[in-house]
Parts: sequence; C-alpha cells; structure tokens
Amino acid sequence: MSENIDVQAAVTITFPDGKSRSFPSGITGYDIAQSIGRKLAKDALAISIDGKPVDLGIPITGDAEVEIITFDHPGTLGKEIFWHSASHIMAQAIEELFPGTKFGAGPAVEQGFYYDISSEHRFTESDLETIEKKMLEISKRALEIQREELSREDAIAYFTSTRNDPYKVEILEDTLKDTARVSIYHQGDFADLCSGPHLSNTSQLKAVKLTNISASFWRGDSSRESMQRIYGIAFPSEKLLKQHLAHIEEAKKRDHRKLGAELELFMLSQETGSGLPLWLPKGAIVRNELEAFLREEQKKRGYVPVYTPHIGHIGLYERSGHYPYYSDSQFPPLTYRDDLGREEQYLLKPMNCPHHHMIYSSKLRSYRDLPIRLTEFGTVYRHEQSGELNGLIRARGFTQDDSHIYCRPDQLVDEICNAIDLTKFVFATLGFDDIEIRLSLHDPENQEKYGGTEEVWQQAEKDVREAADRMGINYIIGIGEASFYGPKIDFIVRDALGRKWQLGTVQVDYVMPERFDLSYIGSDGQPHRPVIIHRAPFGSMERFIGVLIEHTAGNFPLWLAPVQVAVLPITEDVHDYARTIHQTLIDKGIRTELDLRSEKIGKKIREAEVGKIPYMVIIGQKEAESGEISLRRHRKGDQGNMTIQALNDKLSKEIKDKS
Ligand SMILES: [Zn+2]
Ligand SMILES: [Zn+2]
Repeated sequence: MSENIDVQAAVTITFPDGKSRSFPSGITGYDIAQSIGRKLAKDALAISIDGKPVDLGIPITGDAEVEIITFDHPGTLGKEIFWHSASHIMAQAIEELFPGTKFGAGPAVEQGFYYDISSEHRFTESDLETIEKKMLEISKRALEIQREELSREDAIAYFTSTRNDPYKVEILEDTLKDTARVSIYHQGDFADLCSGPHLSNTSQLKAVKLTNISASFWRGDSSRESMQRIYGIAFPSEKLLKQHLAHIEEAKKRDHRKLGAELELFMLSQETGSGLPLWLPKGAIVRNELEAFLREEQKKRGYVPVYTPHIGHIGLYERSGHYPYYSDSQFPPLTYRDDLGREEQYLLKPMNCPHHHMIYSSKLRSYRDLPIRLTEFGTVYRHEQSGELNGLIRARGFTQDDSHIYCRPDQLVDEICNAIDLTKFVFATLGFDDIEIRLSLHDPENQEKYGGTEEVWQQAEKDVREAADRMGINYIIGIGEASFYGPKIDFIVRDALGRKWQLGTVQVDYVMPERFDLSYIGSDGQPHRPVIIHRAPFGSMERFIGVLIEHTAGNFPLWLAPVQVAVLPITEDVHDYARTIHQTLIDKGIRTELDLRSEKIGKKIREAEVGKIPYMVIIGQKEAESGEISLRRHRKGDQGNMTIQALNDKLSKEIKDKS
C-alpha cells in the first residue's frame, strides 16, 4: 500500500464555537484563516491543533479541533509567540550589526521578550536604537520563517560548524540529550534552535521598542559565563506600540509608591524593615475609613469582632499544617527560654485562622448557635523575597480583613452566598465594576497535594458551584488553583488601566474542622463537625489600598479623602469669616484644612489641586458680605456660590452615599 492511501482526502475541522467544516487533507492554518476572512488571515500568528500551538504552515492531515491564534488571543499565547519571534528577529539584527555574537536563551516574558547574548562589545542605550532600526529593516525584507526538523546529531553538527554557537550545542548535548529529533527555525541567513511555533514571516513585526540592558549568567548559574541581556517589546502595529508606551507613562504617574509619598499616605524605610510599611496620618485616615465601612457592614450582617495576638506558639501552626509546610514563606521561628530554661518557639503570625478556630472551640457550641461569624482586622507576616516586594501591594507585614464563618453543612451554601454578596457590595462601593470571578478548584490528578478525601472535595466544590450559580455570577474555572484545605472563589478586579489584581476571596474548608477537632452539638444531641468559610473582601488592607491608589490615581472619593475640603480665603480681612466656615465644617465631622498663608489665591488653589483635595471653599469680600461661599471641585472647577447650610448638606450627602 502506498502512503497516500492512508491519508484522508478530506478532514473535519472543528472551531472553538463548536461548528465544523470539511477541508481537503493537507490544509494549513493559513488556508483555514483565509477561508474565514482576509483580516483573520492577516492577523493570524499560529494555530492551535487539538490544543497544541503550531506554525500556520503545518499541513493538517486528520480531523482536528483548531483555534486560530492572533496577537489578541484571550490567553497570553498570541503575545508569547509574537514576542518570542521578535527575540529571534532581534538576535538576527544583533548578528548582522555585531558579527561573532553568541546567543544563549531568548524567551518571551510577561511584557515582551529578552535575549541573553555573549559579545566582546559592551552594549549601551545608543546600540538599542540601532538594533531597533535593523529589526524593522529585517521586517521590511519580509523573510519567510521556516521550520526545519532534523536529528539531534545533525543539529549539533550544524550549530558547531555552520553557526559556531557553543551555547546551542550545549543545550543540544545537555538539556535535549534524550530528544531524537529537534527543530531549527530559519529566517534569511539567521537560524535558531527552537521548538516553536513562530510567526510565518518577519514582516508581521511592525513596531519594536528595546527597553533595557542588564547582566545575566549563562543558565542563571553565577559560576558560568556572564552574559548581556537585552529586553524589548514588539507589536503587530505602530498604534499598539504607542498605546503601550502611553499606558506605561500613565502607570508610572499612578504608581502607588510615588503617589503614596507625594500625598503623604505611607512610607517605607530600610531602617524600620523592608516590606513593613508605616502609615502616615493621611494614609491612616483612608485605611480607617475603609475599616469602619466594612466593620459597619459586617455588624449588620451578623459578624462578631475578636482580637488575636501578632505571634503564636509554633504548635498551633503545626496543628494547622502551616508549619513546616509553608516555612519558606514565613519568618523563622522565635526561640525563647523561660525562667526554668525550657525552650519554646513562636511564629510571627502567618495566618489568623488557627487563632479563630481556638476561639470557636473555647466553649461548647449548639446547632442553634451556628453560624458563628468571627471577624478581625488581623495583621500577618510573610517572608516575601526582597525582589518580590512592591510597596503596599506586596509587603511582609499586612492586615487581612479576615473572617471565619463556622456553620452547619446545611447552612453552607447560604453562607457562601452571603460572603459573595458582601464582597460584591464592597467592590461596587469602591468603584471596581469590572470583576472577574474564578472558582478555584482542586486538581484530581494531584489529590495528594490537598487535605481531606476526594468525597469531601466533591461536596465542597458542588456547594461552591451551587452558591455561585444561585448568585448569578459569571465565573471561570481554575483547576489546581484551590488552597490545600478547600475550593475558593477568587475576585479579580480590573483597574482603570485594565490591569488585573486578585483581591477578595471566599474559601470553603472541611479540613481544618478535623485538624482542630471542632464540633457542635446537633439536634440529635450528638457532636458534629462544622464547615468553615474563610473570607476577606479586601484581602489585605495594604494591597487593596495600593491598588485603590493606582485605580483612582490618588483621587479618592470624598468619603475616603484624607482632607475633604480646603478653605481658602483670598485676603486677610476675610480670615475671621474663613475661620467660622472652617469650624462649622469641622463641627459637622468634615475633614477640613484652613489656608491662612498670605499667598495668592491662584497658588493656594493650585496646591489644593496638586494635593487632590476634593473641594475648595473660596472666600472673598463678596462671600463675606453675602454670608455665602464659592465652591470649587478638584479637576472640575467652579461650582458656583451657595450658603454654608447648602454646602454642609451637599457634602454630608456625598459622604453618606459614598459616591
Ligand atoms: Zn524560538
Ligand atoms: Zn482563614
């Protein structure tokens, strides 16, 4: 039988929407994209065949589920393929400009790509521009990017003699030693060892920005050759690059560390310890308002506050399983000898949960007592790597708005719904209206990673899904994203710049009640296990406020603004009237500052604007005579004149409505 007879004459191609079409066998991803539309064919970067991304030019000879991958592919795949291809184009550009350069690894990263290179030449900022120009020239040459498959031995020979690239030879001899066949991607005179997939033509790269040069070691090993790492980012259009650069500028302006210092919200100092923020008076106001808001809301919803210490006996965390399993992310234990020389060990509290479980078990509970909802703004400490620290967003000491709800199994779905409702309410109040919700489930293939039995997990996940469905929320599923003690509902918010942040969480736990031997007496007079819900709408106060600063660019809503009103007299003869207005607002509980400096009114207004104070009350001769005030809104300008009573009413309403 000849080989041709085995190959089907037609193949059935199924698209992501479930629709199928028949195509001649040997059809390529490019042909399929073309058959759908010219725009898709132009934007197509690669194709996923039965879940595996491959080059567009690969012939398809069997029935398959396919998805055309573009730069905007909902996952990160399109961008990864594009950016990795850009790293090959950068390598080609460097090779043409600096012959003899040797190439290490050149992967795509979260925002762009890099290539580690070895060269006699010390690369500088000005080289980056030259390389960018050369990359665009290579794009204009419209070189086809071709895949070649060959034996590992032939590839070693090729990279030894033709390419003279020892790093690729090392990878072939070491990392790929058990691989029989490997692939090389060619474009013009350049070639790279690579598994792909790649763009089909260099012309798909339309815009590039090389961003940084840093030092690295071959294979990340400090005993090996040091290399130069060049970072960049590339796009399929000039417009997308411009948008990206504008976005970076805006993100820099909104950086919470920069705004935190400018607006005097918090500080970080090596002297007090890395990752241990200090709240300045103005930042403390924002935090206190948020805590008061949640405390009030929780009171209405039947939560009871508790307090627990900042350190705890190590035995407590051994019982919960947080020690030693999570010891990497914790500060080392404090070892203490008492008067009798007995040694005891304590941990800086990494979690509030075990303390709350002890409070639950402080007395006998009846089925009629449940649910019990313990709540605390509990400060915890984690040893984040210093490179991971990021102002308030990633700190080593932070305060969780932590609650543990102890309920009967028959109450669980209701309680999850209540926790979801509270979390949604909190986000809506704070102006985060673009929220993605993820049901984080366990990975049944890795059951040993989790506490509890398969049955317990099935029940917990069924309950979580039921609650999510009842609340009518749209969610995505994250397999393997559960915590070790149970499934979670994670709230991921998108900020004003479109960046995603995981904030609130609701977690179900059947494991800790066992470990802590928690019980309640049921209506049958017998002891039963409660179920625990761990939940924190803000997540961490530090992280939440860090994200809120970037989301609002420091323009807090009136109820959160550290200074709500600045009273600005124009001349000295109205100072007495200004003092009266100031005092009236203070008496109403409105945070007000009075600017009695002998500066020009223009300067006073400018400074209040820079300080992002929501309202300015401007007092001149006319206002003093009429007994009114002139109101100005930050970023919006003049709001006209009104009586002090009208001002009070307006501000009080806006504060109360949290609008
Ligand atoms: Zn590659
Ligand atoms: Zn907990």
